[in-house]
Amino acid sequence: MNDTPLIQLHNLGFSYAGEQTLHGIDLTVNESEFVAVIGPSGCGKSTLLRLASGLLMPSTGEVLVGGKPVTGPGLDRAMVFQDYSLFPWSNVTDNIVLALEQTHPALSKAERRQIAEEYLAMVGLAGSEKKLPGELSGGMRQRAAIARALAMNSPILLMDEPFGALDAITRARQQDMLLDIWQSGGSLKKTVLFVTHDVDEALILAGRVIVLGVRPGHIAADIAVDLPRPRSREKSVNSDRFRALRNRLLHELDLAVTRQLEAASEVREGSGI
Ligand code: ADP
Ligand code: MG
Repeated sequence: MNDTPLIQLHNLGFSYAGEQTLHGIDLTVNESEFVAVIGPSGCGKSTLLRLASGLLMPSTGEVLVGGKPVTGPGLDRAMVFQDYSLFPWSNVTDNIVLALEQTHPALSKAERRQIAEEYLAMVGLAGSEKKLPGELSGGMRQRAAIARALAMNSPILLMDEPFGALDAITRARQQDMLLDIWQSGGSLKKTVLFVTHDVDEALILAGRVIVLGVRPGHIAADIAVDLPRPRSREKSVNSDRFRALRNRLLHELDLAVTRQLEAASEVREGSGI
């Protein structure tokens, strides 16, 4: 692993309409690291990712990528969301070709098509290139969204619960696919910031898990996932180390949720409800 900081969040804070959502977030993600961000619903995970992507601007502090402040979305950061943000009227190849037109205008049409097909094959969608998103299952649509993000060739991949809407088996397969692609290294060895609320998913994939606490969202724990790589789901989940890490993470999440409930009851008492 390379110890060059690629993403740096300094004293990051964000408020929606005066309500503080994130406060004092300090986080450094090194090149080629796979970092999961986990926390109870509403703690600010998506907000954190949107700040890193440049879709939102911080209220306090700053986001640096490669040492430079982020001022908006950029080609160095590809996003994957939970809802398949594909254009429903274009087939999956054209969805990728269209994105490449924006990000790689110098490429010829044939080159864009070739790249699209290459990445669709990588995520197991060879044979479905001409299908519209509506003709694919949820899992396949999400594979297409991942293929599109990978085809951007950005060094950073920002993923917001990309498998959150999938059933357990499909989800496990997608995790395996992402693990394989990431571990295969080379130009695909992205720096990944991966939001999830699933403890096992975080431990299977990531080298480090950041637990966000609530009100306002802050870093409650930063846990190294010292499971050997290359990993396989089976080897990981059956290890004692996995079980110990899972207990630790569940404990941290439990604390975060307890504090959330306490904060909510204080608000109710304070407002006389
Ligand atoms: P998570 O992804 O962890 O579930 P979010 O980052 O989506 O959390 O949201 C954090 C908090 O900010 C929540 O309380 C949510 O209601 C609030 N929030 C999110 N988006 C908006 C918005 N566009 N306007 C106002 N409040 C928002
Ligand atoms: Mg979210």
